[in-house]
Amino acid sequence: MGNNIVVVGSSNTDMIVRASRIPKAGETILGGAFSSAAGGKGANQAVAAARAGGKVTFIARIGNDDLGKQSLKCFEQDSLNLEYIQKDETVPSGVALIMVDEDGANSIAVASGANANLTPQHIREAQYAIEDADILLMQLETPLETVVEAAKIAASARVKAILNPAPAQPLPDQLMKHIAIITPNESEAQLLTGVSVFDENSAKQAAERLHEKGIETVVITLGAKGSYLSINSVRQIIPGFTVNVVDTTAAGDTFNGAFAVALAEGLPAEQAVRFANAAGALSVTREGAQPSIPYRKDIDTLWQ
Ligand code: ADP
Repeated sequence: MGNNIVVVGSSNTDMIVRASRIPKAGETILGGAFSSAAGGKGANQAVAAARAGGKVTFIARIGNDDLGKQSLKCFEQDSLNLEYIQKDETVPSGVALIMVDEDGANSIAVASGANANLTPQHIREAQYAIEDADILLMQLETPLETVVEAAKIAASARVKAILNPAPAQPLPDQLMKHIAIITPNESEAQLLTGVSVFDENSAKQAAERLHEKGIETVVITLGAKGSYLSINSVRQIIPGFTVNVVDTTAAGDTFNGAFAVALAEGLPAEQAVRFANAAGALSVTREGAQPSIPYRKDIDTLWQ
């Protein structure tokens, strides 16, 4: 194995206003504080994989605009391979407008922009990169047929594909059969299986349903509790790390990026989950999406 990770997914700019509360329709609230940061599940996971020690190729689509250029600068700082990032001349880069209240609860509206134009053809142009990967990592913020195309290319080259099924949506069997590893959180697991996941036993039941679709490895992330791992004869919760929680944004993305690297490096699944739990835990100790994603040396200090 190696450390070659290909991520197919979205890139957004998160525009965040923290206010005393979230305004109702028609209402204006003054006194908020603004910040912006590179985000989007694909970009977050690509950055998480790079900081965890992966050599990462990111396949994505941005607009030909200032926000897109800003995202590219961030990706360069994290040494992502940007060869397969396309610029869309017709639509803007993806944007997430996020409002956060005093208690940390948020409301988010996403304008997908160029992300919605990431097509199967675009994936075929990157076929060799996918075939060369140790792990392919994907989410659901880009069109489903694009995700299916990448999963098919990976499966026929025997490259393991991880699907982080977020944001949650029902998935066709045609996609499931090409996925080796799936990583839903509790609510995504419920949407995919109909099983409400709240403890070890319910996680086991949900995992069985996903195995029935042909997926060999199921990891259900359980927030502070850690993650439920189901592979071969292993059925167990791998406990999370206790940390001081500041902001849980991008915990799942960080987990997935780190998990991809650990598997690519050949770690057994239990250890890979533990490594990813450590990365996820570190991300909740800091604010924001990409700014909160930890580096390898900090993950190693916590998990080993
Ligand atoms: P998502 O962000 O997709 O809802 P989770 O909340 O399950 O996903 O978090 C993903 C992973 O991040 C968890 O499996 C765990 O390893 C880590 N994590 C999340 N929240 C915490 C927390 N409060 N304390 C420690 N680790 C956490």
